[in-house]
Amino acid sequence: MSEIRDFRQLEHEASVAEKPRFGGDALIVCDNLVKIYKIAELEVVALQGLDLLVDEGEFIAIVGASGSGKSTLLNILGGLDAPSAGEATVAGFELLNMTASQRTVYRRQMIGFVWQQTAKNLLPYLTALENVMMPMTLDGAAGRYRKERAHELLEQVGLGHRADHLPSALSGGEQQRVAIATAVANRPRVVFADEPTGELDTATSSEIFEVLRNMNESEGVTIVVVTHDPLVAEHVNRTVAIRDGRTSSEVLRRTEVDEAGEHRTIAEEFAVLDRVGRLQLPYEYVDALELERRVRLTLDSDHINVWPDGETEKETDNE
Ligand code: ADP
Ligand code: MG
Repeated sequence: MSEIRDFRQLEHEASVAEKPRFGGDALIVCDNLVKIYKIAELEVVALQGLDLLVDEGEFIAIVGASGSGKSTLLNILGGLDAPSAGEATVAGFELLNMTASQRTVYRRQMIGFVWQQTAKNLLPYLTALENVMMPMTLDGAAGRYRKERAHELLEQVGLGHRADHLPSALSGGEQQRVAIATAVANRPRVVFADEPTGELDTATSSEIFEVLRNMNESEGVTIVVVTHDPLVAEHVNRTVAIRDGRTSSEVLRRTEVDEAGEHRTIAEEFAVLDRVGRLQLPYEYVDALELERRVRLTLDSDHINVWPDGETEKETDNE
């Protein structure tokens, strides 16, 4: 059988096989998200076909350079902004087709937010305790329950002794702890945090990531943290890198126990394969082999080879 027929056969089999809905039972599904900002005559493509799946209970980081589209993505997932194209579903809510009342339920009960600007997270005239109670108050929870849960959460973030302080009497790191307690108060399915350590020093940042990790474990809440802080990778199980408005690579971390009983963390980097099979080659690889425009692919039983398109070059050389 020729190579060409091989490919056709594979393609045919793939199209005949039953295709489940993209994302299956993932909690967060971003399917080919596009966001174009238009300012006067100028268009900025902030997201260009971004796919992302997050399972219930995950604690993941989305990293990328400034301007790579991280905040744009979080604003869409938070129901604060609409994509130009594509689909986003969170906990069964189709973010593009929500009615006003669904949007209120979504924002109030399904998700929590932690922003970079400590001042944006808390109401300045309420104490730490009152801030944590606020989402539950809006949601109509009983007074006693609210107070108990708010106290518990402040204990959990290590601020039980600061319950009666106003935000202005707390350090930046302490304010972010209160913000995290506030974000999980209503037992949301997901907490989104946009650069939550952007205004903090390294040691405090590390503590904040640990507080998020504790919440992820104790509350079972899924957490998506967006950051350009490379330190985050040590605290999460999965780091997704965004480049040019698209997810390009992922680092997965797992802990292994070796023969001597020592725990070691193993981090492995993967390229992201999108739903139609496209992947982005790392710049270093492309550079090293001077790949350009086309590559030759061959399929082996357990891997795919990528070769420079050398022959075409020779052909053009001969011309
Ligand atoms: P990040 O959070 O990764 O720094 P953003 O999502 O804020 O990136 O921005 C992605 C791109 O979209 C940038 O080029 C930015 O200038 C542009 N952008 C973001 N928000 C707006 C907006 N409201 N209007 C116009 N352009 C925007
Ligand atoms: Mg941002």
